[in-house]
Amino acid sequence: MAGKIVIVEDESSIRGFIRINFQRNGYTVFEAETGEEGIEIVRQEHPDIVILDIMLPGMDGFEVCRILREEFPLLGIIMLTARNLDMDRIMGLEFGADDYVVKPFNPMELVLRVEALARRMGKTFDRDGDRVLKSGPFTLDTYSQKFYKGEEEIDVTPKEYLILKLFMENPYKAFSRDEILDEVWGYDYVGDTKIIDVNIRRLRRKIEDYPSSPKFIETIWGVGYRWKGSNS
Ligand code: CA
Repeated sequence: MAGKIVIVEDESSIRGFIRINFQRNGYTVFEAETGEEGIEIVRQEHPDIVILDIMLPGMDGFEVCRILREEFPLLGIIMLTARNLDMDRIMGLEFGADDYVVKPFNPMELVLRVEALARRMGKTFDRDGDRVLKSGPFTLDTYSQKFYKGEEEIDVTPKEYLILKLFMENPYKAFSRDEILDEVWGYDYVGDTKIIDVNIRRLRRKIEDYPSSPKFIETIWGVGYRWKGSNS
């Protein structure tokens, strides 16, 4: 069973971006533009977890957090902060938040944080069925975050893990470098898409039978990459 979440964030682009990622993972998602609206929705919908931005018009995230915590002791609260300041973090936790994520963040990382919080709360949001992804000789366990070729475990970095997860969830889909960048590095990552090529090259050395003539991760010239998952 995936969970029910409420996103409280006044910036509609960020809100939409978070919503899409949670919906894709089977969550029921409610959105609020202001703290006041967020509190109302929580009262009506009784979600498992609230994702709460600190910088909101009117009542700010800290105040919303304090009110929600008082009224709903068992509600999971994850704060979003744009400022990477320890003071903000500490204050967020003092106001009763369970966790916080600093913007910009990777959408999958936020999903994983929600799952981790759910586990701490004694709930299981693991997506039944797709917890273990299989493709050709490869297995990706999204619970332990381990990756195997046949029986052999292959060490992958967190970014490589996210690339593999994206690929294995979408076999044969042609991904542009920009799409991979958005999904793995986050929507407002500023940098060269060459970082994708560097990561793909390293992944190929780890997973391909012959890295110089790759069969599993195919290059699509002028576009990006495609996961084939089999060596035929
Ligand atoms: Ca905001």
